[in-house]
Amino acid sequence: MSSFVAQLQSFFRTDTARLMCTYLAIIMAMSGAFSIVLYGTSTGQLERQRPPRLGVSDEFPLRASPEFRSFIANRIEEGKQKIAFNLIVTNIFVLLGGALLSYYLARRTLEPIEAAMEAQVQFVSDASHELRTPLTALRAGNEVALRRKNLTLQEAKQTIQDNIETTERLQQLTDGLLGLAANDAITPTQEISLQEVVAAALMNVSAKALEKDISVDDRIEPITLRADKSALIQLLTILLDNAVKYSPPESTITLSNTLKQKNHVVSIHVTDQGIGIDEKDAPHIFSRFYRADSSRSVTPGHGLGLPIAHKIAKAHNGVLSVESIPGEGSTFTIDLPINSKS
Ligand code: ADP
Repeated sequence: MSSFVAQLQSFFRTDTARLMCTYLAIIMAMSGAFSIVLYGTSTGQLERQRPPRLGVSDEFPLRASPEFRSFIANRIEEGKQKIAFNLIVTNIFVLLGGALLSYYLARRTLEPIEAAMEAQVQFVSDASHELRTPLTALRAGNEVALRRKNLTLQEAKQTIQDNIETTERLQQLTDGLLGLAANDAITPTQEISLQEVVAAALMNVSAKALEKDISVDDRIEPITLRADKSALIQLLTILLDNAVKYSPPESTITLSNTLKQKNHVVSIHVTDQGIGIDEKDAPHIFSRFYRADSSRSVTPGHGLGLPIAHKIAKAHNGVLSVESIPGEGSTFTIDLPINSKS
């Protein structure tokens, strides 16, 4: 019994209970007001049935005997009690039904808020975890170097070089985090040429592609669409950067586009001949911080590129999807509404 009371007490301290009570108070206030009005009008109507005290009026020309008057008065009183009783019973049912309805509505209201808060907490915890690894490496490297009595110039330079590489990774991570968190509006309002966007994105990855001797087969056909130019360049840069990262040297990346839905949507395809994505990883690669085990050994990264790409596609009312065969390669496709005047 005492544990039931304790459970009830802890329930009434929850946000659900607070919101439920607010909804219930609104329902009961409305039901109460409605009952008062109903009681007032119904008893008013009953009072009209009472014969005039002096007995003679246009409506009731006969003098009512005292017995008849008291009989009518009793019936009126009984009627009033019956109305009051019915309204009280109705309000009890409204209270019980309202409590259930309020609980349901409170859960419906709070569920998306709780999910958003949980996602926020998860994001902060994942981000802290990702930040901690390079920071620990940075600190450990410096401490070891400091403790060495006969640190040579060569070793000191190596430590500094390691520090630079770690801070570069940290910078990439914080840039990625900012890219995800930034709510500065992506405004898909500019008339842009797809070929220009692709050329700019290719420029961003050309050095890395050259390093691995990867060639790009650019088959993009001219088309104008309404989009946010710099955001679209960023999206394509992420896909091309991944294609380069996860492809073997001397392979080819192909860029192409097709039209669908009666020319209202353009599909942009980025195809590589890289390591591919395992079936079990495919549903997760657009989630923050997710990295397939196979890619961890290939290249460092933070699993933030595709979530940013996904966010940009969504801001354009577009869809980012992937088809892949492990060991053979992947094709990332961006479906974008054209929305262009031309
Ligand atoms: P990162 O590349 O930094 O790990 P992303 O969010 O860009 O982060 O990618 C998430 C994961 O998706 C990668 O770790 C990799 O496992 C997989 N992935 C993305 N692009 C490709 C690709 N072109 N080929 C194979 N795997 C890919």
